[in-house]
Amino acid sequence: MKTPTILVVEDESAVREMVRFALQQQGLNVQEASETIAAERVIVQTPPDLILLDWMLPGKSGIEFARQLKCRPETADIPIIMLTARGEENDKVQGLEGGADDYITKPFSTRELIARIRAILRRSASMESAEEIEIQGLSLNPATHRVMAQKRAVDLGPTEFRLLHFFMTHTERVYSRAQLLDQVWGTNIYVEERTVDVHIRRLRKALEPGGHDSLLQTVRGSGYRFSAD
Ligand code: CA
Repeated sequence: MKTPTILVVEDESAVREMVRFALQQQGLNVQEASETIAAERVIVQTPPDLILLDWMLPGKSGIEFARQLKCRPETADIPIIMLTARGEENDKVQGLEGGADDYITKPFSTRELIARIRAILRRSASMESAEEIEIQGLSLNPATHRVMAQKRAVDLGPTEFRLLHFFMTHTERVYSRAQLLDQVWGTNIYVEERTVDVHIRRLRKALEPGGHDSLLQTVRGSGYRFSAD
């Protein structure tokens, strides 16, 4: 596997340097930008494997930028970790709704940051070698990252894709939010359970046009089940 490249978009140079140092020590390639226009240029030239995106930036905000990236097919699959300030709980939910795959609260330890980055990179890598799955006209190809519903493409963010992949390979069983976090996000004590609900909502919305949203059932008091019956 080639060395992953991480793009750090952060206007505080001290934070940027700290992050760059930590990532380079891990043998990762690092690119930097202090605002979104510069970030855009970097992304076009060398698409990164992951973006670390600060929420508060001069000019366009991180969340607005994340939303844009997720709307464009050529950048939609790049995982994003948002950096948010302490205690801004609503921001976190908004960030996830807007397309971020994870968030990390400042001030954070570089150890925590590396663990999150590794978890996401592992997940993207582990999905590159599996076979296409098909359930009731809904097909998912882990190799090409394509999801089709009755022959029409379904656009999914990376987390929704992983979630659907998990459900399609584990049908008819109820999974609690905690179990889904373990299975889909990786054992990560920092992610809250309501994060699961946010992504389930997004996944259902994407499956709605093909009518496959009904396969993804809420089991009251327990969690979620993907049922082909
Ligand atoms: Ca900032």
